[in-house]
Amino acid sequence: MVNIKSMIITRFAPSPTGHLHLGHAYSALFAYEAAKREGGKFLLRIEDIDPVRCKPEFADDLIEDLGWLGLIWEQPVRRQSQHLADYTDAAAKLREKGVLYPCFCTRKEVEAEAAAAGHAPHETEGVIYAGTCRNLSSAQRDELMAQHKTANWRLDVEKALAMTGALFWHDRTKGKIEAKPQDFGDVVLVRKDVPTSYHLSVTVDDHLQSITLVTRGEDLFRATDIHRLLQALHGYETPDYHHHPLLKDGQGRRFAKRDKSVTLRSLRTTGKTPEDIRKMIDF
Ligand code: GLU
Repeated sequence: MVNIKSMIITRFAPSPTGHLHLGHAYSALFAYEAAKREGGKFLLRIEDIDPVRCKPEFADDLIEDLGWLGLIWEQPVRRQSQHLADYTDAAAKLREKGVLYPCFCTRKEVEAEAAAAGHAPHETEGVIYAGTCRNLSSAQRDELMAQHKTANWRLDVEKALAMTGALFWHDRTKGKIEAKPQDFGDVVLVRKDVPTSYHLSVTVDDHLQSITLVTRGEDLFRATDIHRLLQALHGYETPDYHHHPLLKDGQGRRFAKRDKSVTLRSLRTTGKTPEDIRKMIDF
């Protein structure tokens, strides 16, 4: 009998901002094969919270491309844009704990404040927020909220860490990792334009979908530190992680969505088969 509790569940979670390329095919197969090898389940999640960058036609096309490649996933496909209430609930819990605060700084101000504070940009997250709005009084917050009507809500990382204590997570190749979410500064968890952010929704969904092994590119290795902190604040279980190397082209560059020649669509039109694609990416 299958022990449900220990069954491996992986997922591929693309953002539909363009057509899938060979790098995505590698990442999708990585998650799919990891589940298959251990008799587990493979899920597909569409990370489409950004209404400007994501397009429904790219979501439809990527589902078709993955089917063509031979992947089979559990139904239903979770589309994040249809679950915004889940992220709003999760943010409300963090507000109750007092670890979210509204930030009224513009992008330009955030950049200028970071430069003035002498912060070097973070490798994954870019500019590190100097914390300007962290110490506003509640009267100042009310006044600014009345003026601006909306805000980005940031995680007070130091305060959150003081509640959780030191945190660790496990990567299948690198072993035990101590989470250092403070290196990112106070990240935005609820955006002005969308009631969530990548970090919040990915953590909520990995929990709601009972993911036991998160596989993804090593460009997101450090982002896991933030996800670990959010898991601890919410009392979620922590999945295992496996960050894989990013596939490079012949010139040693990462594949990008703008490289039309390596999209699965264009390779299909030149007569490539799913077996050819697997060979091209050593799978
Ligand atoms: N949606 C993210 C991306 O396309 C991947 C997120 C993840 O796997 O955690 O880069």
